[in-house]
Amino acid sequence: MTAPIKRHLLAPGPTPVPERVALAMARPALYHRAPEFAEVLLDCVAKLRLLFKTAEPVVLLSASATGGMEAAVANLLGPGDAAVVVRGGKFGERWGDLCSAYGVPFEAIDVEWGRSVDPASVDAALAKRPDAKALLVTASETSTGVRHPVEALGPICRARGALLVVDGVTAVGCFDVPMDAWGIDCMVVGSQKALMLPPGLTAVALSARAREALERSKHPRYYFDLRKELKNHEKGQTAFTPATSLVVGLREALTMIEEEGLDNVFARHARLAHATREGARALGLELFADRPTPACTAIRVPAGVDGSALVKRIRERWGVTIAGGQDRLKGKIIRLAHLGWAAEFDTLIALAAVELGLADLGHPVQPGAGVGAAETALRAS
Ligand SMILES: *Cc1c(COP(=O)(O)O)cnc(C)c1O
Repeated sequence: MTAPIKRHLLAPGPTPVPERVALAMARPALYHRAPEFAEVLLDCVAKLRLLFKTAEPVVLLSASATGGMEAAVANLLGPGDAAVVVRGGKFGERWGDLCSAYGVPFEAIDVEWGRSVDPASVDAALAKRPDAKALLVTASETSTGVRHPVEALGPICRARGALLVVDGVTAVGCFDVPMDAWGIDCMVVGSQKALMLPPGLTAVALSARAREALERSKHPRYYFDLRKELKNHEKGQTAFTPATSLVVGLREALTMIEEEGLDNVFARHARLAHATREGARALGLELFADRPTPACTAIRVPAGVDGSALVKRIRERWGVTIAGGQDRLKGKIIRLAHLGWAAEFDTLIALAAVELGLADLGHPVQPGAGVGAAETALRAS
C-alpha cells in the first residue's frame, strides 16, 4: 500500500492554517520598526481584546504558548509568593513545573485525569495557603479533553486575594471565556490552536491587578519582561524583533473570526464537538472527559486495542493525523480535534478514520456507524 497523497491534520494543535492566512504570511516581509507594522500590531491587539472580551491590554510575545505561561509566572509572582495550581493533565502540570522552575512554592489540586476541578476544592486550597498570590488553572485541558469551570473561580479568587491566571490556549477563540466578566486577571493564548496559525506566537492579557503585581515582582526578567512589552505595545512596538509574518497572519485570522462572527465561531465548535461525540457513542466508544471541552474529544481506546498503534495506523495508512494520549494516558485515549479551521467534513473524516483504523486493528466496528450518527447530529443542529 502506498503512502496517502492527501493528508488531514485533525490534532488539537498545531491546527490547519487557512489558505487566506498562509497567503497573507507569504507577502513581502515588513520592517518591524516601520509604521506599517505598528498598524498591524495595534490592529491585532484590538481584535484580540474582542476575542478575550476584555478592555485590558494584551501583549504579543514571539514564543510558543508555554512562553506566555512562563511570562505569567515570572511576572505575576515574586520571591516569597506562593500559588495554587490545578493539575489533572499535562498542561495543568506545566503550571506546577513553571512554579518549581521559579522557586514558587505551590499547593497542587490533583484532579483525576479526565475530571474537571470542583470549585470548592479551589476555595479550600486557597484557604489552606493564604500566602498564595495566584491560582493557576487551565480553561481547556487539551491533554484530557476536559473543560474546567473557570466561570466559577473569579469570585473565589477575589475573596481570597489571589489573581486568577488562566491557560486559555485551546479555549480563547473556541468557546466563550469572557475575561473581564469572569474576573480573570491574566489569560494566555497560543497561535497554533483556535487562532489557525502556525506555532510561534503567544498573547497574554493582563488586568489592572495583574499589572500591579508585575510592577511589584522582584523576579529577574529579560525576554519575557511584561513591563517592557506593555510600554512598547502602546506604540505598536515590541521590545525585540517579533515573528512579523505570524503577526501579519494573525491579523488575517482574526479578521476571519470577525467576519464569521464570534458567536458563530463558538457555535461551530460546539456543533462539531457534539457531532463527534454522537459519532463516538454510536461506535460503542466511551468518552473520557466528565466535562468535555469544545476544542477536542478524548475517547477511551477500547480494551484489547493499542491506542498508539491505532493513531499510527490512522496516520500512515489513511493519512489522517489525530492525537493519542500523553504521559499516563499514552495508548489509552485518542483525541479528535474540532478546533480552529474546522468544519463538518473534518468531523466526518476523523470519525471515518477511527472506524477504518479500529477495523484494521481487528476491533469490530460497523462501517459508517460513527459517520452516520455524526451526519444525523449535524443535520439536526
Ligand atoms: C498547546 C497548549 C499549550 C502550549 O503549548 P506550546 O507547545 O508551548 O505552544 C498550553 N496549554 C494548553 C492547554 C495547550 O493546549
